[in-house]
Formats: sequence, structure tokens, C-alpha cells
Amino acid sequence: MTSGALAVHGGAPVRTAPWPRWPRADDATLRSVEEVLTSTRWAVSGPYDGRLSSERRFAGAFAAFNGVRHCTPTSSGTAALTIALQAAGVGLGDDVLVPGLTWVACASAVLHIGARPVLVDCNPRTLAMDPEAARAAATDRTAAILVVHPYCSVADLDAFVALAGALNIPLIEDCAQAHGARWRGRRVGSFGAMGCFSMQQSKLLTAGEGGAVVTNRADLADRLEQLRSDGRRFADAPVLGRLELVEIGDVLGRNVCMSELHASILLDRLQYVDDENAVRRVRAERLDAAIAATPGVTPLEPDARVTECTYYQFVLKLDLPTYGGAPIERIADAVSAELGIAVNPLHVPLDRHPLLSAGRDQLGGGPLPHAEEARRTCLTLVHPMLLADDAAMHDIAEAFTKLHRNRTELATASDSTAAMALSF
Ligand SMILES: *Cc1c(COP(=O)(O)O)cnc(C)c1O
Repeated sequence: MTSGALAVHGGAPVRTAPWPRWPRADDATLRSVEEVLTSTRWAVSGPYDGRLSSERRFAGAFAAFNGVRHCTPTSSGTAALTIALQAAGVGLGDDVLVPGLTWVACASAVLHIGARPVLVDCNPRTLAMDPEAARAAATDRTAAILVVHPYCSVADLDAFVALAGALNIPLIEDCAQAHGARWRGRRVGSFGAMGCFSMQQSKLLTAGEGGAVVTNRADLADRLEQLRSDGRRFADAPVLGRLELVEIGDVLGRNVCMSELHASILLDRLQYVDDENAVRRVRAERLDAAIAATPGVTPLEPDARVTECTYYQFVLKLDLPTYGGAPIERIADAVSAELGIAVNPLHVPLDRHPLLSAGRDQLGGGPLPHAEEARRTCLTLVHPMLLADDAAMHDIAEAFTKLHRNRTELATASDSTAAMALSF
């Protein structure tokens, strides 16, 4: 039991023990990278050396992991979204339904190909795009639905598959925050026409940067392959010492290929994703139990149709009056100081995002009252925290209890200007 002043005001913090490191690598990861470094094949666009490239091996392994036929690795999640939209035929003058509460790339990827993001409010229970709000926002200009599985939720895939079918437009799943999650027993990313992933540093599977698009459709896979490699396709029978990619040019591709180095890291780390997700689920249960007695903090309610839940970020909803009515940013700073790791509010609703707000007239949809309410009241715990031990889950609960005890101090405090450095 910690007493005394808040750590943000110089008191002793609740936790001084370190948090688990992220990203993770071990000797096998190093060997995997070394194998590429000591070879002459660093890129899919390099000469064929008689062996299957790491990129092809990762594509096969990641398709199998997701229970789909095809996978096209990319240089980033943003690149994955971009080529998926292009493969779906989305372009100039089209509208794409996009969640209002998500990472900015979901909207900027749409803008980059000349289409218009139409922002759709979230379901307050899951924080994912609300299917009824999406239905209401659809018009005859709507060319695709880009649904995101955010934080620790899966969007209502039953409703979105039905809506896309009724509108006769493609559903694209953004699974950048949900590697390994299952909806009714099936992996996310396999319900829509395509599923997009990011392997950026913060994600549940990472090589620092990276991405992938998965699909069951051979025609889309062929377009995706050309879109990401300057209109080239793998040769049926590669020749030793010659380039494996053949120039086709059916579509106007760019180079957003994943390098062999990145693919080799992902090939190694992919084998741990399910186990790490399972550990996080156990810790999340312990955390649920630990915060049950903590005043004014509730987790998101689980949806029974999510048969394997993943935690990119564990979301805590706060009753602000219990914390002196302090703004969420101040509570985030205070709890970060108690725990020695950055605890942040949710994404800024996209109509207020600095990258997009200047071009507000290029966005459709809104207002986003549920997204605003969630941004005002919720905090997120990053997934490496859920790889810590049970004592750490009690530290998290204790940090909030301490904030509650010090709610008068919290209510009257001026906001700290020191930005908290991410400690993982
Ligand atoms: C991280 C993320 C992206 C973008 O991925 P990058 O690899 O950073 O380009 C897109 N959508 C969502 C939901 C994300 O979380």
C-alpha cells in the first residue's frame, strides 16, 4: 500500500520495477537476420539464389496463421491499406467509410489515392466502428468499408459482412491492432475481401516496420502483388542469378515491398504471437479482477463472439468525478508517473486530428459524439504491460486507487509540461 503525494508531484511512485521490454528478439531472431545478411538476397527484387526468399516464406506462414490462401507483405501497414484500397478499385471521387476513432493512417491512406474518407462514429461498448452509423453514412458514392479492430476489440463482423454485401462493395479489415484475434472461431482479416496488418514497432507482431495484406481471392492477390512491386509478379520458374520478379504492368504499382531482413525477423517472431496473446489474456483477467474493487475504473465489456481476444491496448473507462473531475490528460500523466510507463488516452477523433483538421472539407461524415466521449474518459495500457507478472496487475490497480485517494490534489493540480518518455 503506497501512501503520500502523487508521483507526478514528487511523491514515491507505486511501481519502480521495470516493465517487460518490447519489441522482443533472441538468439534465434539474430540467426534469422544473420542468414539474410550473409546471403546475397536482401530484397524480393534481388537475384534468385536458388532458395525461397524470406519474404515468400513469411507470406506463406502468415497466410497459414490467418487461415487464408494469399498474403502480400508490404513495407508498412499504411502501404498495406493503400494497395488494398487500390486493389479494390477505389480511387478518385469515391467515398470510403472509415472509423472516426482510429489511427490517422486509415483516413490519410484514403486521401492519398484521391478518395474521400467518410468518418463514422464508434459503438460506445466496443469503440469499433458502429454498423448502424455506417449504414446511415453510406451513399451511392461509397466504394468500400474500411473497418478497424481497435485496441482490444473486434468490430461487429457479422453486421459489417452483411452491410458490405447489401451495398455490394468490398469490406476491408484493418487488423493492425488485432494480430491473431478470432471472431466466431475464425481469424480476423479473413471476413472481408482483404485484411490489412501493420508490423510497426508497437504492434503485436513486429519487425520495426512492415505490413501485409491477406485475402482468399486469387485475382486480388495478383493485383496486390503487382501494386506493391512496381507492377511486377513472381516468375513461375525463377532462374538462378536472375531477378525473380517479372515486369507485367497490369496495374500502376509502386515499390512498397518488405525487405528480406524484415521478413526474416517476422518469420522468427510469428511463432510466438499466439502464446504471447494467451499470456496477455490471462493477465487481462487478473487485471479485471484487480480493478474490480478500484473506484471509478471499468474495462470494456467483452463480446462473446470474440472467441480469441487480443490486447493491443487494454482500455480502461474512467468515471471522471471519482478522480476529482480532472481532465483525462492530467489523469494519464499522473498514472504514468505512478507506474513508470506511458499510459495514454485513446486516439484523437479524426475530425480533430492535426493532420486532417486543416483539410476538414476533404472529410465526410461526423459528428462523432461517442468517439469524443471515449476520448474524454478512457485510458489505454500498452500490451507489453500485460506480459508482466500478476504483481504488476495489482500495481496498476493500486495506482488508480492512489489517484482516487489524492483526487483533491488531482483536481487542483496544474498540468505538467514534461512529456513522459515511453519506457518500452
Ligand atoms: C499502426 C496502424 C496503422 C498503420 O500502420 P503503419 O505500419 O504504422 O503504417 C494503420 N491502422 C491502424 C489501426 C494502426 O494501428
